[in-house]
Amino acid sequence: MTRTSQVVVIGGGQSGLAAGYHLRRLGVDFVILDAQTTAGGAWQRTWDSLHLFSPAAYSSLPGRLMPPQAGATYPDAQHVVEYLADYEKRYELPLERPVRVLGVHRDGPFLRVETDSGTWRTRAVISATGTWWRPFLPAIRGRDVFGGRQLHTAEYRSPQDFAGQRVIVVGGGNSGAQIAADLAHDTELTWSTQRPPRFLADDIDGRALFDAATARRRALDAGRTDTGGVASLGDIVAVAPVREARDRGLLKASPMFTRLVPGGVEWADGTRAEADAIIWCTGFRPALSHLSPLQLRGPRGHIATLGTRAADEPRLHLLGYGDWTGPASATLIGVGRPAREAAREIADLLQ
Ligand code: FAD
Repeated sequence: MTRTSQVVVIGGGQSGLAAGYHLRRLGVDFVILDAQTTAGGAWQRTWDSLHLFSPAAYSSLPGRLMPPQAGATYPDAQHVVEYLADYEKRYELPLERPVRVLGVHRDGPFLRVETDSGTWRTRAVISATGTWWRPFLPAIRGRDVFGGRQLHTAEYRSPQDFAGQRVIVVGGGNSGAQIAADLAHDTELTWSTQRPPRFLADDIDGRALFDAATARRRALDAGRTDTGGVASLGDIVAVAPVREARDRGLLKASPMFTRLVPGGVEWADGTRAEADAIIWCTGFRPALSHLSPLQLRGPRGHIATLGTRAADEPRLHLLGYGDWTGPASATLIGVGRPAREAAREIADLLQ
């Protein structure tokens, strides 16, 4: 049986909920399909010690401030999950779970959304599937010969799983620095980064990053010179555990090794380090495979967008994947504005 809805939002994480909030305000009929069994999107899957890099009030979706977490200036991931679960209830957002979208197809004036539990016919789609579900692993020689354990950020949970082991953490971004700091006390740690780590000043947290992203957006909107935004400030937010490990001298980065060998890794000059495990904190890519039937992807894998709208398919909006779908859109506080714009454009399209 085919069901119908004016708009189908794919993904029920923070981006899908922000879209739902604005669609509801505009009186548009919509449904949110989410592959998870429970609320919270990717926040349900992060490592145990992860805390937000902004205080609660600066980590809020439209309409409802995140309440502070008792005893923590920077809330933990469980607090975010609870906030999102409360948010979708409070605004009575029409979520269907677990429903995995397999493909979005053109069907005359409609889009057809095929899922693992039936088909939807719709006038517009907002894709808000995030990146957590598509971990990126760089190509490297010897990946198959290494005899230890290899995992990605997405699979890392806690230092207890590696106590006393020789662990190599790869990556100079926030995940790499935080996981290295997490492991620095209980493991024999090697932290490998492509370039020397660039820590942001200690007093910079998510608030300042959001201000920098906003200043960039304003400059670009006004046709002024690109301020460089967040990237110009550094790569790593010096959250408390990172700062502490760094100041105790536990976070010394080595350059990237060039290949894996059966017992560990090897650098270009032949130096080797033994390892029981390698944790690849090498980022994520947008989870867009459900959009493949629309054949919109350009040479570098991205779909060209005008704001949040797909440049070559006006019935499709992309939300929350990164700056190419709205400055700071991959953050709790930043997704509200592009969500509002997407909802408005769709409401206009439906008229
Ligand atoms: P997700 O949370 O990934 O939600 C997408 C949803 O879509 C999921 O439920 C998924 O199951 C579902 N889905 C995927 N594919 C399909 C499909 N085919 N069919 C149906 N459903 C599907 N942001 C901040 O604001 N502050 C921070 O401190 C912060 N820290 C971060 C730390 C880390 C380590 C990371 C990785 C990110 C951090 N972010 C932070 C960024 C951002 O807030 C999160 O990445 C956020 O989870 C993105 O939300 P989303 O809704 O776009 O995607």
